[in-house]
Amino acid sequence: MARVTPPAILILGGSALATARRLQACYPNARVHRLRGRVAVDAQADPGDIVYDELGAHLRELYASGTPIIALCAAGIVIRCVAPLLANKGAEPPVLAVAEDGSAVVPLLGGLAGVNVMAREIAAVLDVPPAITTSGELRFGTCVLNPPEGYALASLVQGKRFVSDLLAGESTRVEGDAHWLDDAQLPRAPHATRAIRITPLAWNGNTDELVIHPRSVVVALTDSEDAVHRIRDALAAHGLAEQALAAIVAPATGIGNTTLAQAADALGAPLRFTAAASVAGEHAGAASSRALLSTAMLPSNCTVVDTATGIALAIADQPVDPDTVGRARGRLTVIGLGPGSADLMVPAARAALAQATDILGYATYVEMAGPFRADQQVHPTDNREEMQRARHAFELASSGRRVVMVSSGDPGVFAMASAVLEALDTAGEPDWADVELDIVPGVSAAMATAAQAGAPLGHDFCMLSLSDNLKPWSIIETRIAHAVEADLVMAFYNPVSRARPWQLDKALDIVRATRAPHTRVVLGRDIGRPGASLVTTTLGELKSTDVDMRTMVIIGSSTTRGFARRSTQDTHSAQREWVYTPRWYR
Ligand code: SAH
Repeated sequence: MARVTPPAILILGGSALATARRLQACYPNARVHRLRGRVAVDAQADPGDIVYDELGAHLRELYASGTPIIALCAAGIVIRCVAPLLANKGAEPPVLAVAEDGSAVVPLLGGLAGVNVMAREIAAVLDVPPAITTSGELRFGTCVLNPPEGYALASLVQGKRFVSDLLAGESTRVEGDAHWLDDAQLPRAPHATRAIRITPLAWNGNTDELVIHPRSVVVALTDSEDAVHRIRDALAAHGLAEQALAAIVAPATGIGNTTLAQAADALGAPLRFTAAASVAGEHAGAASSRALLSTAMLPSNCTVVDTATGIALAIADQPVDPDTVGRARGRLTVIGLGPGSADLMVPAARAALAQATDILGYATYVEMAGPFRADQQVHPTDNREEMQRARHAFELASSGRRVVMVSSGDPGVFAMASAVLEALDTAGEPDWADVELDIVPGVSAAMATAAQAGAPLGHDFCMLSLSDNLKPWSIIETRIAHAVEADLVMAFYNPVSRARPWQLDKALDIVRATRAPHTRVVLGRDIGRPGASLVTTTLGELKSTDVDMRTMVIIGSSTTRGFARRSTQDTHSAQREWVYTPRWYR
């Protein structure tokens, strides 16, 4: 089932931080977005906070991506910032302004996305009355056009017309099970001309009706040919609305079939599979589709009908939760968190985390990727168990779960993506091949460190891991020697550890045999994390005791150079010089 995007809590100054943290407690996955340089980075700053540079651009970006926004500042500021986007019709996320001292909660936009529900939740936490201004909501105590999960409005345009009729004094009947309206103060009358109807049957255009569809219809088909049209025809033949579709069921042999996946997308319904591959694969027609339904674990009181186009329909009297039907195609997304700070994690990685049912990874990184919701399962493990962790991820994903494997930096740089692919390549598990596998890149430590120092990787460079846990030391020596000879800038990952105390000195001996003592060196430690440090030095001055396992070592080429920074130009860094490798070569 679609997961709700956690809200972004925006603050402009330190005076709003306390209220922001109270709201964060109310929405466990929400992050506080702080304006760079305005809020003192003190004990209250959290590494999970997101730092932005310009409020207007940041608000518009959040709005455009559909992220709910709680802005702890004047309502006018928020309105001016998002105003340029309001002309474009599209999904409108909830947008609220909250007084920085928590004394007022003003829902601004996103009436149909539940902004008033959020306003009430926030107001309850802050113990103030919410500033609800929506007439229908004030009069009826609920937004009639925002039915709960599992229900869909037939027509928003008609819905608005219907509510304004009620506001103008019309009364209504309620037909069908609309339990969420039980406590609403609707002007009900048993013989009213107007009716709110809860039905899977399509709306016939009657303007006296507000039709809300329970997502209670499950369709099954055994082949993907022309699936969209056949499903639409099957629904139409029984007078059923497309919005009433709860799920599309196909045989497990159809996992990975892109035509089916596209059809499900086009119809806005999740795709589910049953294990009845042998039943379905061999026969065509409604009988085998019906057989699929019988293995899909549907509610027992469903009415099942066959259609001429080989599709079977099951109609329940309540919404059907697609998570209870058959199983979804499992998903495994291997993500990189970037070096540490939330603003250096790519949005695709954040989206994967928000949708994950299970999160796996080395305990430190899993913790960095949080916080998680109560419905998400976290599987932290020890760093060394990479192949076992990769296999565990596939086992979970092939059972239909949405699994995220976290690495730091980029998942393909000395990290989990290779282990995951090796597990898939060598395990010989056919079910694992059906998993939807994605690898989402991240900002690797070398890139993050280089950016802080300037552009030391501006010309040809190589990345080397100095760890001889998984490769013989002799190979490392040979590679360093060749890299030195090729005059490549070198980024050393895993430079030392307690178990590998001498390797860095040995590596530096090889480098020093050829490269001049004035060669530029950049050391980045815990970049993007609390207590980050960046040091620029030279090969001659570098001591291996300046380096630990949390350090990135960048050794310049013969052309890498440095120059003094003008401190007035650069308020973000205590760094005194810029280091770069020019694009040219002589
Ligand atoms: N996949 C990771 C690298 C994992 S290897 C990435 O792409 O960044 C682990 C090594 O990366 C550490 O020993 C250290 O050398 C470097 N490293 C990882 N995160 C770092 C950070 N935040 N600051 C500096 N170096 C880091």
